[in-house]
Order: sequence, then C-alpha cells, then structure tokens
Amino acid sequence: MNEQWFQESEESRLSISTPTKDDPTLIFCPKCRLKAVVTLHNDQARLSCPSCCYNQAKLAEHRKFYWGAENPTDSYFGANLWLQTDCAGESLWAFNKRHLEYLEDFVSAKHRQRNLNVDTWMNSSLASRLPKWLKAAKNREQVLKVIAVLKNKI
Ligand SMILES: [Zn+2]
Repeated sequence: MNEQWFQESEESRLSISTPTKDDPTLIFCPKCRLKAVVTLHNDQARLSCPSCCYNQAKLAEHRKFYWGAENPTDSYFGANLWLQTDCAGESLWAFNKRHLEYLEDFVSAKHRQRNLNVDTWMNSSLASRLPKWLKAAKNREQVLKVIAVLKNKI
C-alpha cells in the first residue's frame, strides 16, 4: 500500500463497514465476551461466536451507524467492536481487518499527501471523514503503535 492506493481508493463508510466473507466485522460476543464475527449471507446479517456457539440472524437492510460515537457498534446487532481501544485520549476503532489496514495506511502516508488534488478523491472518501486527532501529525506514532496492538487481536 502506498500513496497511489490512496489516490485511487474510493472507499466509503458504507463499503468499509460492510462485512465480507474473508473480512467479517469483528465484535465482542454479547454472551461470552470473546471474539465473534458478523457476516452477510444474501440479505441476512449473521452474528456467530466460535467460542460459545451463540448466534443470531436478522435482515441486513436494517443498519444503524454510530460513526460519531466513542464506541460505535457493528451496525447490525449493536454489538461492541472487537477492534477498539483508547488512543491519544480518544477512541480508536475499526470494523474489520480491512478498516484497520486502511487507517494504518492513511496515517502512515499522511506526510506524503500534501500535493494531491483534494477534489479528485478526498470529498467522497472515508479519509475526509476521519477525526482530526487521527490525522494529526503529532499523534502519528502513537496511532500506529495502537493500530499494531489491535492488529495482534485479529
Ligand atoms: Zn460467545
């Protein structure tokens, strides 16, 4: 991943938060508090826990986002995200591996972005919606450290 990738990526809030087969949304199991997953099967969202076998299913069209919240949920079941921790006095969270890697690439590439044409990608991209503290150069090292910790939890 490099700055090129950022120029071309049209990752949005919706696309990055939609679980895929290879990259499910990681959550705390509502029952045993261990790592569980949310996946999509046609029009159904399914929550399943490999540890205690708890599972739930519902129509995937009913999504609720809490992007502004400190601890947004998976958007289908209201389960807490597995990839969440405190960072620089804020809450750093990600839906899944892809989302976490996106944040890592964004923060790593931050210093190289100055010359890009903002209008071509910034407005519609997820990057423009990231919180200021996450984009702040002074937090860069700490953010990358915390992302590395979260990656180990995957
Ligand atoms: Zn469980």
